[in-house]
Amino acid sequence: MPDKTTLTFTPVIGIEIHIHLKTKSKVFCSCSADYTNDEPNSHICPVCMGLPGSMPVLNKAVVQQGMLAGMALNCTVQPTTYFFRKCYFYPDLPKNYQITQSDLPIAANGWLEIDDDAGNPKKIRINRLHLEEDAGKLHHSAADGRLEGAETSWVDYNRSGLPLAEIVSEPDVSSAREAVEYVTALRRRVRYAGASDADLEKGMMRFDANVSVKCSDGRWGRRVEVKNMNSFRALERAIEYEIKRQSKVLAEGGEVLQETRHWNDAKGTTTASRVKEFYRKFIVEPDLPPLVVSPQWVEEVRGMLPEMPNEKALRYKEMGLSEVDAGVLADSIDVAQYFEACVAAGANPLRAGNWVRTEVLRAVNDKQVGVTDLAVKPDTLAELIRRIDEGKLSTTLAKNVFEGLLEGLSLDEAVKKSGAAEGGVDANALENLVRATIEANPDVIGEIRSGKDTKGKKVKFLQGLVMRETKGQARPDEVAAAIESAIENLK
Ligand SMILES: [Zn+2]
Repeated sequence: MPDKTTLTFTPVIGIEIHIHLKTKSKVFCSCSADYTNDEPNSHICPVCMGLPGSMPVLNKAVVQQGMLAGMALNCTVQPTTYFFRKCYFYPDLPKNYQITQSDLPIAANGWLEIDDDAGNPKKIRINRLHLEEDAGKLHHSAADGRLEGAETSWVDYNRSGLPLAEIVSEPDVSSAREAVEYVTALRRRVRYAGASDADLEKGMMRFDANVSVKCSDGRWGRRVEVKNMNSFRALERAIEYEIKRQSKVLAEGGEVLQETRHWNDAKGTTTASRVKEFYRKFIVEPDLPPLVVSPQWVEEVRGMLPEMPNEKALRYKEMGLSEVDAGVLADSIDVAQYFEACVAAGANPLRAGNWVRTEVLRAVNDKQVGVTDLAVKPDTLAELIRRIDEGKLSTTLAKNVFEGLLEGLSLDEAVKKSGAAEGGVDANALENLVRATIEANPDVIGEIRSGKDTKGKKVKFLQGLVMRETKGQARPDEVAAAIESAIENLK
């Protein structure tokens, strides 16, 4: 029996990800791929139902989206690939085989960079990205009237034949946290490429993890495949659970068996599932020719790939944005484009970055809309920011104006409604306020008058005091002018 107290365990993890590729129709027929709110079995035809005599025709858009996703993951596109029939029997697969590229994929040998647990950059290698079709969906329900006492299963073939990309990593992941960082980075990049929406709540992204553990005494556990994770949190918890379970088995001198286990999200455990004896064999799909992509097509698709998030974030930092701001803005391509449009319309990048990260994203969150659907367009925000920079609006007032813009008002209407009216405080009131502030700060006035305030910091300090007194309702430029003229009059 090994001494448990001195043993350490190193996890070795590979991740397999299925994503739905974004296309109008399914992969081998012309049924619509968008069935979200439609009746079960309303998007089906002889091909995706696997009826005898039906023939698959490869959707070109699927190949293009597969190439884009592969390129976004730094893969090389393979010029010639094949489709196979992966034969097994299950009610969600009416033709009894799935058409898949398996290990002769459209794209291979990619990588993604993440931060490892010590915060250092680490490459996770991607073995391949292959195209395949999705199966139908089974729904299990309690007994209905027709089958008394029995549980009933229903099958919906709307999902049958939807285009999938399976992305297989090398076993380079070392912890549950790294796994989450890897899938997050991957999702960001395929979304940027426009290859997939990878919406977890809509089942557009699913995970399997291959987990094994190496013990410091040299023993290895066998590889365990954990299936059925549909969220980042489930992936993280399932891997953590497996690492603990396998380490415990090895610590107690046992053996970790090679098996497939099923993640139970409600219980927070994995359980051994039946071995897939129904997998028979792969044969070349006789109804589809080899898939050949020309170098011209590959280059054409490469030209469609936008600047990727890491490169964007780096460029934003060079514009002077903080690491956090740059990361948040580059997280989604829509937000990044909104920010860039705002800067292109003349806004100061730092201030624009700040506004988008705080006010714009808050509004997006509150209203539960995409940033592109927001009533405030980037050029309007740029104009609002310009007015702040010119001192015509305080930041406080500008935020009120922004609220008006969100309701669909024009900038001038929103300014009027906010009460700012471009000079929100009565001139006499402002003069009195400035005088009181000057009288309350004789030391500061002394320094200004003796010429020590060469950088204008003391004047800014007084301006801040007055702005606070007006609760941000005054125009900063008018306050500054009032202070300077009051000091001038003292001389
Ligand atoms: Zn169909």
